[in-house]
Amino acid sequence: MEQQEWIRIFQIEIETLNRKEHSWHLEFDENIDPENPNMGWKKYFRKTSARFSCTSCRRSWPSNRVMVVFHMRLVNGQGTVKVRPLRQNCKRCLNAQMVKPSVESDNIQVLMENLMMKIRIKCYQENLGEHNKIPRSFDVKSPHEPGHCEGCRLGICTKQ
Ligand SMILES: [Zn+2]
Ligand SMILES: [Zn+2]
Repeated sequence: MEQQEWIRIFQIEIETLNRKEHSWHLEFDENIDPENPNMGWKKYFRKTSARFSCTSCRRSWPSNRVMVVFHMRLVNGQGTVKVRPLRQNCKRCLNAQMVKPSVESDNIQVLMENLMMKIRIKCYQENLGEHNKIPRSFDVKSPHEPGHCEGCRLGICTKQ
């Protein structure tokens, strides 16, 4: 997955907050429990669109139900956002490995802009309405497969 791209766009977007006294960073963490952030952390779930590619048969498929989990906190001028994009696995292969989504830059951008809004609300107590940007969606022909979706297994797939 294009982690450097996520971090690059995050760092550009965080500048728009104009909170130069605080430093923020984004880190990937596969171990965060979506519904149960550690004490003092806030959670945020956002859906995006992405592609997956099976490590066994090389088949790839698009999905418009790709959940991304964020946990965030601001302590002593240090802001941290942990991110965990949820995985899917191939429905054609038996016991296929769960794979991470590949999110294109324009949809990472949308995710980050929505995340900035959430940071302003949750970490800076700004009184903003929710004006979420919508990701570019893919032309998906087959129905969503809950048995092959980590978000469904964790019970958070349809939640925003
Ligand atoms: Zn496969
Ligand atoms: Zn799902």
